[in-house]
Amino acid sequence: MADQKDNSVIIQEFSNFLKAKGKRRTPERFKILEKVLEFKKQFTIEELNQAMLNDAFPVSKSTLYNTVEILREVNVLRKIYTAENAIAFERVGQVANIHLMCEHCGRIKLVKDTNFMAYMNARKFAAFSTSYYNLTVYGICNDCARKLKRSRSNKKNNK
Ligand SMILES: [Zn+2]
Repeated sequence: MADQKDNSVIIQEFSNFLKAKGKRRTPERFKILEKVLEFKKQFTIEELNQAMLNDAFPVSKSTLYNTVEILREVNVLRKIYTAENAIAFERVGQVANIHLMCEHCGRIKLVKDTNFMAYMNARKFAAFSTSYYNLTVYGICNDCARKLKRSRSNKKNNK
């Protein structure tokens, strides 16, 4: 699975964060994180609670809220609103792609870079709290590079 490697980085960062903040690294918190990482799209606290119950791992609502708050702090989750205006959460990591944009044809290719994500998730800015980020790298795609090369050599041959 594509997200597998990212998850181990996230779990490590979560653990480091709890330690740094002097919070207890309880099995409940790690189980909640595990369930959070299984969601492929947005979810509500109710759905997270249900996922915990499905695994026969009931936790209190306050533990759920508390852990979700920590996951927002470490930039794993962000708060969003559903179409029904209910509060939901989604993974920040799912939008943290690097966009490779071709300046010639405008096509954008998405790539994941675990090192970049780990760096950005740990990066704190003064007097600013990050919701999400993306990086766009500008350049030229192989198709355009090939075409450009061909048209250059055609010009040369026509002379
Ligand atoms: Zn192109």
